[in-house]
Amino acid sequence: MQIININNSYHYETENLLRVFFPEEKFRCTESAEEGEDYCIFETHGSKIKIELFLSGEKLSDEKCFCTESREEGEAVESFLERKGAVMLFDLLCAYTSYTPPWGILTGVRPAKLMTKLMSSLGEKKAVDYFINELKVSEEKTALALMVAKNEAPLMAVNTEKSHSLYVSIPFCPSRCSYCSFISHSNESAKKLMPSYVEKLCEEIKTTGDIAKKLGLTLESIYMGGGTPTALTAELLKKVTDTISESFPVSSVREYTIEAGRPDSVTDEKLEVIKSCGATRISINPQTFSDDVLKAIGRNHTSQMTVDAFLQAREKGFDNINMDLIAGLPTDTVENYESTLRRALSFSPYILSLLSVRQPS
Ligand code: SF4
Repeated sequence: MQIININNSYHYETENLLRVFFPEEKFRCTESAEEGEDYCIFETHGSKIKIELFLSGEKLSDEKCFCTESREEGEAVESFLERKGAVMLFDLLCAYTSYTPPWGILTGVRPAKLMTKLMSSLGEKKAVDYFINELKVSEEKTALALMVAKNEAPLMAVNTEKSHSLYVSIPFCPSRCSYCSFISHSNESAKKLMPSYVEKLCEEIKTTGDIAKKLGLTLESIYMGGGTPTALTAELLKKVTDTISESFPVSSVREYTIEAGRPDSVTDEKLEVIKSCGATRISINPQTFSDDVLKAIGRNHTSQMTVDAFLQAREKGFDNINMDLIAGLPTDTVENYESTLRRALSFSPYILSLLSVRQPS
């Protein structure tokens, strides 16, 4: 499907929202619509928004002018129009597909963070109304976001104005999973970029450490994700962790996590690097314990390799291991998912994160 954004740069939000309705679709951004192919036009002129969709020969459109004065306090005009346009697109897509996504126009990964922010500026009642009426989130999911935000509150309260966290991204993976929207490259296509990426990353870590020191900031947590940090060689991974240790007061952080998500990237050597740098939390993510589903999503490992990597990490002394499972993966079934869930529980991971993707209808 072609995506055409006119007078705005909302491609990312447009594509992510379309992807919720058409999870299998391939999207490309173009300047103008080519005839015969499905397209979505998101056009803005001042405070006027026009959405036009051409889907399987059917044209749908909506046009509205918004009073930018009615935006929430602190909300930039750009974000206001992006949100209003997303709602127009959402309504057209719901009507066309007869499907109403429970998270409304939200496509990010931290709805509770947004709920916390809104609660602090608007208060709980208005934040809840905003989720339901302005972001189109269902009442059930709004209640969930509220519950998570409230549970997180005591942890957030420990932070001070000087608190900060460090996120280090390693955008490489052994292979690309079919459902993934993170920025990452497969080892096969980008292996030769790893040394120079790590070089630049270490420079940035050092500079960030200097700035944090100058500002007198307190480091609360470190999270190395991506991608898959253990897609790096043990030597490159050590270079990154050594640079973090030289640049930040690692021993006083409350949590230090390194994702070892893909079992096909876990080795004894890399686990030792993680252990010796002071990281206490890792994740080893089965996603599913069905070998057929693993193959269908583009993962080059078996479920047995997940079990082996998990036990290997336990043997190395890691007791805080997270496992991610995903419901709704291509070719998966309810029975398969149930057996995946039971198998994951049998390992008693410290945290079991349950995620879901929507299967194409
Ligand atoms: S391992 Fe994770 S980050 Fe990498 S492609 Fe798969 S889902 Fe994306």
